[in-house]
Amino acid sequence: MAATRHITVRRAHTNNLADLDLDIPRHRLVVVVGVSGSGKSSLVFDTIAAEAGHQLSETFPPFTRNRLPKWTRPDVEHIAGLTPVIVIDQRRIGGNARSTVGTITDTWTYLRLLYSRTGTPYVGESNCFSFNDPAGMCATCSGLGEVVASAVERFLDLDKSLADGGIVLPGFGHGGYWYSLYADIGTFDARTPLRQWSEAERDALLYGGESAAKLGRKTPKEYEGVVPRFERIYLHTSDNLSERKQDTIRRFTRSQTCPECDGDRLNKAARTAVLLGRTPGEMSRLEVAELLDLVHTIDSAHVAPVVTALTERLEAMVKIGLGYLTLARPTTSLSGGESQRIKTVRHLGSSLTEMTYVVDEPTVGLHPSDVESMVELLEHLCSSGNSVLVVEHDPAVMARADEVIEIGPGAARPVADSCSKGHSTTCAAPTLRPDVPCVDEHCPSVHHGPRPGPSPSPTHDATICSISPCRSPEA
Ligand SMILES: [Zn+2]
Repeated sequence: MAATRHITVRRAHTNNLADLDLDIPRHRLVVVVGVSGSGKSSLVFDTIAAEAGHQLSETFPPFTRNRLPKWTRPDVEHIAGLTPVIVIDQRRIGGNARSTVGTITDTWTYLRLLYSRTGTPYVGESNCFSFNDPAGMCATCSGLGEVVASAVERFLDLDKSLADGGIVLPGFGHGGYWYSLYADIGTFDARTPLRQWSEAERDALLYGGESAAKLGRKTPKEYEGVVPRFERIYLHTSDNLSERKQDTIRRFTRSQTCPECDGDRLNKAARTAVLLGRTPGEMSRLEVAELLDLVHTIDSAHVAPVVTALTERLEAMVKIGLGYLTLARPTTSLSGGESQRIKTVRHLGSSLTEMTYVVDEPTVGLHPSDVESMVELLEHLCSSGNSVLVVEHDPAVMARADEVIEIGPGAARPVADSCSKGHSTTCAAPTLRPDVPCVDEHCPSVHHGPRPGPSPSPTHDATICSISPCRSPEA
């Protein structure tokens, strides 16, 4: 059935598309090219991805749907042959502090398995090596590797007295909510600039407790130093903090390496396990290329499948030029290009098939030697039973495509068509040229060219065709 072999688009009007008709073959590596503004994004993202995303989200209950990305339904008369779409764009992964290169590529999951099965001493199941699982996380930093600490030196303005606003924190100034608990208790001189206080006095003010007791002056029984009070109200709270409180936290705290785990994120038992002479923390700080060499030395039949899966991922990362990353690297710190390549690697091991991967300019910013590897990854996705639709300008990628669709040029009413090899293709602009059945070899604007770029690989047989100027007379 033809409908299942193609994504069929009829009379698409999305954005600047003008009655675009198009059949895009599935299970192929298809590259969509066109000058800026030609409508390739309107076709690929705003029509195909948007409709697939919309229809898929409709299958979820409203509660879930509200948490899914929102898709604007495209302006298209008929669209068929869609499969679920996965967009791999250059948007940065972002995420939260718990997301690292290791977690997002699943490489850390495989390493956890290796630690649990072959690490010494035996610590427990693989979740005992997960910093996102209570069984494995460092209790002090909750597995974040960092703690938020009071930046105490910012709390006081030493040139001012308490009465003049010497405690800079909100609510502690003269007339503020907490002011009287410090200035009016008789323990401290509210009129003398803090710089002229003794160190012991300032410590008593800030920390209370023993520091206050040492002062030898009477302090109220419930006296609480400024620092413990601040930390209790702002840091050790489970309340949802208002934007204002969060701003206060940003101004008066700093994050620092967790003093307990020293940034390793794991609890003591997990931190002491050793695999190939390295602890999990040391392993996570190795560059991927170095880690790969190390993993190659594992020679143990009962973990062979895990080693194979891990090796595949690491090799893919090295191949597309990410060998310099470490698994500990937070995904929030990755650039757009790095994010996109990581996302691609992440999908390599997916067991899902019949997906449509939509990839936006995957070679932007890539070293020419890495472009080839990127194309191989895309081909791998394709040969695993998926369709891959790439918006790309790179001739090297076009040369490897099964099919190139050119949309263009950037006027308001672009039309496009794709030519499968050996098939005559109808130029699609029904409302513009209703009287002209425009078949490719008769249409002067259809260009069947040799593929651009490097010499064609014998395993690929792409045709490039462009019908761009085939437009309405008034255009
Ligand atoms: Zn910690």
